[in-house]
Amino acid sequence: SENDADVIVIGAGLSGLTTARKLHQKGLKVLVLEARDRLGGRTHTVQVKGKNNNGKPTTADLGAAYIGSTQWRVLKLVEEFGLKTYPTNEREDLLYFEKNKWKRFTSVFPPAGDLLSWLDTNHALRLIEEMTAQNGKPTTADLGAAYIGSTQWRVLKLVEEFGLKTYPTNEREDLLYFEKNKWKRFTSVFPPAGDLLSWLDTNHALRLIEEMTAQVPMDTPWTAPKAAEWDRMTFRQFIEKTVWTKAGRFIVEDTVRLNNAVDPHEVSLLFVLWYLKTAGGIHMINATEGGAQERKIVGGTQQLSLGLAQRIGHENILLNQPVVKIDQTGSDVIVYAIGGKIFKSQHVVVTTPLSIQSQISFAPELPPGRNQLIQRVPMGCVMKAFVYYDTPFWKENGFCGSANINDEDSLVNYTMDNSNCDGSSPALVAFIVAQNARKAAQMTQEQRKSHPINYVEKDWSSEQYSGGCYCLALPPGVLTSFGEILRKPVDRVFFAGTETATDWLGYMEGAIQSGERAAQQVLRTKGMLTEEDILEEEREANARKLPRIGFTFFERHAPSLPTFLIVAAATALGVASIWPTYLLRL
Ligand code: FAD
Repeated sequence: SENDADVIVIGAGLSGLTTARKLHQKGLKVLVLEARDRLGGRTHTVQVKGKNNNGKPTTADLGAAYIGSTQWRVLKLVEEFGLKTYPTNEREDLLYFEKNKWKRFTSVFPPAGDLLSWLDTNHALRLIEEMTAQNGKPTTADLGAAYIGSTQWRVLKLVEEFGLKTYPTNEREDLLYFEKNKWKRFTSVFPPAGDLLSWLDTNHALRLIEEMTAQVPMDTPWTAPKAAEWDRMTFRQFIEKTVWTKAGRFIVEDTVRLNNAVDPHEVSLLFVLWYLKTAGGIHMINATEGGAQERKIVGGTQQLSLGLAQRIGHENILLNQPVVKIDQTGSDVIVYAIGGKIFKSQHVVVTTPLSIQSQISFAPELPPGRNQLIQRVPMGCVMKAFVYYDTPFWKENGFCGSANINDEDSLVNYTMDNSNCDGSSPALVAFIVAQNARKAAQMTQEQRKSHPINYVEKDWSSEQYSGGCYCLALPPGVLTSFGEILRKPVDRVFFAGTETATDWLGYMEGAIQSGERAAQQVLRTKGMLTEEDILEEEREANARKLPRIGFTFFERHAPSLPTFLIVAAATALGVASIWPTYLLRL
């Protein structure tokens, strides 16, 4: 029946759609069940009207003759009043009278005559179109995932396959750092620490984190030599032990707030190190140019999911089907959705965030380890708010729009430029994370919104089928006790989702990687995984270039704050002890 499949995939985010596509390519009948009424999960692109959007006829004269195809208000009135419309006749050829001659044509504009005139006219029209576009054309806002990193190969491959365009995230002008009631300009990956001592302190902590990250295996972080010690402490406890200065503490802790959307006392040190490892290090994850925030997709990231869905076939994807039960007690796996539909397959792949898997009832019951794991996997907490302006005032003042805010009274943690790639529809996107996002969720939208123009926001912590964002943030003790269970199937049920990734965990790249891995697990179980599949993956991995960003020579060799103070004190003592002898000699 239409509710039967070889494999049922739960969730139509990037991981589920990747799994489904891989299996579909192998000739298996796949059915994707999605709880929401849309594809894409944590990628969600919406159309937003930029300022000065001149495409709408707010002053349309109903006495005029013609109604355009996008003149929605007139069309709505026409419908409301039960009037009828008919197409303006252009079935036959049009005429153009020039140089005393009539010429037939069928295009929108009359024929320019010779090739040179045509090129000239065409160029002018294109130019006008571009200039018009800059004057407030509709723009898209990625309410969820937006940025693509330089080593997110799988995402970049999809971008190419679907003929999408990317553009660099704007960081041409200076960045800003707000601290102690002052704005400071900077151009580096991390904000300026202020004085020399704070800089040495911050630099040493970042270097230490990089060294510790190197010791964490990407696939099995729980086997790191110091896994037990690092998983016993929170990131905050590590910072308290390691970083001496206030400025240093803020900068290093903020990397966790911004990248994991949790406060540093909520998350295990080992988990943070693993997260960094899968992203390629602390510079990669924080940088724009060459790092995780390098590019954006023209038209938004949800197009990746739409492209995948097209390859799978929309008839194989059912929306509005929240799965509530998976029963594998019989010879088939039976999947139940809210609304009463029942589906049947040989295998199931669950791709939802781990924390909301407890919304699904399993028969037989999940093994104790997995049952415990899914209770210990909280999601981060993030709100994204887009504010549209008349002009990009930040650029006019030499700033790129990226601002890092170190101020307890500020709700916003970070801002970035979110204007269109051609600079039209000037906008900033604000990231409100962790404790601030929880505070903001208590307010009304009117209280949060401080600008009168156009404002769009999304609070991911209120999403039933995400549970929060960007992804899970494990507290101490979970990774070492339950890590091994993350990707382990339970009989005929497999698990994917960015939460189970080992490359760019928590990102779109991780979602795709996990989907590919889960598809491989299913194919292997079915005896359908070929040598060529494995070779192709190896070939792709070998072709990838290594990241180029990291510490400068000076940063790599600068002393830590204690070393610097000891050397400075020893030097001062040395000078003090030599000085009297020198004076006596005189
Ligand atoms: P999801 O996209 O969550 O897909 C899971 C799907 O399962 C969902 O569609 C959900 O509706 C569905 N589902 C849940 N429960 C059920 C059920 N019971 N039955 C059926 N279906 C169910 N990543 C980046 O790479 N770059 C970024 O810049 C970036 N920024 C982000 C900003 C925000 C605000 C957020 C929220 C995320 C961001 N991410 C970013 C992370 C990225 O969006 C995710 O890693 C990725 O989209 C996860 O894909 P997934 O398929 O694993 O999970």
